[in-house]
Amino acid sequence: MKRKTGTLCVQGGYTPKNGEPRSIPIIQSTTFKYDTSEDMGKLFDLEASGYFYSRLQNPTCDLVAARICQLEGGSAAMLTSSGQAANFFALFNLCSCGDHIVASSAIYGGTYNLIAVTMRRMGIEATFVAPDCTDAELEAAFRPNTRAVFGETVANPALMVLDIERFAAAAHRHGVPLIVDNTFPTPVNCRPIEWGADIVTHSTTKYMDGHASAVGGCIVDSGRFDWMAHADLFPGLCTPDESYHGITYAEKFGMGGAFITKCTAQLMRDFGSTASPQSAFYLSLGLESLHVRMQRHCENAMRVAEFLQQHPKVTWVEYPSLPGDRSYALAQKYLPNGSCGVVCFGVQGGRKGAEAFMKQLRLAIIATHVADAHTCILHPANATHRQMNDAELAAAGVKPDLMRLSVGLEDIDDILADLEGALAAV
Ligand SMILES: *Cc1c(COP(=O)(O)O)cnc(C)c1O
Repeated sequence: MKRKTGTLCVQGGYTPKNGEPRSIPIIQSTTFKYDTSEDMGKLFDLEASGYFYSRLQNPTCDLVAARICQLEGGSAAMLTSSGQAANFFALFNLCSCGDHIVASSAIYGGTYNLIAVTMRRMGIEATFVAPDCTDAELEAAFRPNTRAVFGETVANPALMVLDIERFAAAAHRHGVPLIVDNTFPTPVNCRPIEWGADIVTHSTTKYMDGHASAVGGCIVDSGRFDWMAHADLFPGLCTPDESYHGITYAEKFGMGGAFITKCTAQLMRDFGSTASPQSAFYLSLGLESLHVRMQRHCENAMRVAEFLQQHPKVTWVEYPSLPGDRSYALAQKYLPNGSCGVVCFGVQGGRKGAEAFMKQLRLAIIATHVADAHTCILHPANATHRQMNDAELAAAGVKPDLMRLSVGLEDIDDILADLEGALAAV
């Protein structure tokens, strides 16, 4: 029986047998013991599944990945050491030097840098399109060497909602998969695979962990992309991997397993951005209350957005679930139960007004973080997006006076009183 989201948050991926630990056990071991070399050889040949070295796979990490996999409705998943590693692996598993990516311009600053600067140095080019671009603009972004389309369900910090069906259709017309970073809504509020996304990524550092305790990432494969039908575009998946005993991933592991197996056997082997079992355990604790916390984050954020919208010193507010927002229609379609706990806004006096406002906050803390139990605030033009010039900021949907408020789980009356007090100083 297919369980509901709240049940999967608590119990997904791990069903202890008689006498086994109720909590996901932390297997704090780098290595695993085998009776014969033949037994171990089978693992190295990917003939048998099992553990041999925690850089590639660890039982704790796999149990937690399995929970996220079930939540997203995927076929296979893996944890990574960070959200950055998850997005890099998801892209680099499909691209090599000379290839090209189509990406939404409204994405996390770190991911923008990864794609626009670092992957470019590896010979992988990208064309950025606004998430609300016309169909003709989207179509024109593709090249014969395009290998993937990338976007965020709800962009951090632009808070624009990706039209997943439209981007998936465009990607599929060109025979390539759509990768969606679903960090902000989490599978509680949106499951991109149900709308046509092929691969879903997460910074689990955010709501999934939810307590600002462990950096981590996750990649989930839908198992729906037919690599062999586009074998000419994806030689890495559809021709023998000489670095791995001549295995052809798409043949041996099928649509459901090829992507994650290649990503583990090749990229985790060579780059080693491994999640630690201890961090994975913290993540499992966070997941157990994710559905309850997301609901409260969204309720509190909606109250904050409404409060800011009617306040005379606030010049603009962006929150996808707020009627009249530029992403409201898409949010109603893809995120009917709530979007996220993050609200962006500007105050009178622009950049200076924002600085004055932030100085007067007492409850909301200034932190380069979002999406945990504590209300926190950031001025991206001064922090996460400082590498960008004004034109790049505009393309990423980030205004110079934008403040990103991550509404936490505190009592809403205290959160509103703090904002009211600080607005008096503007
Ligand atoms: C934070 C974040 C990332 C990067 O994740 P880390 O865990 O910090 O490496 C990627 N995408 C989005 C949408 C994020 O919010």
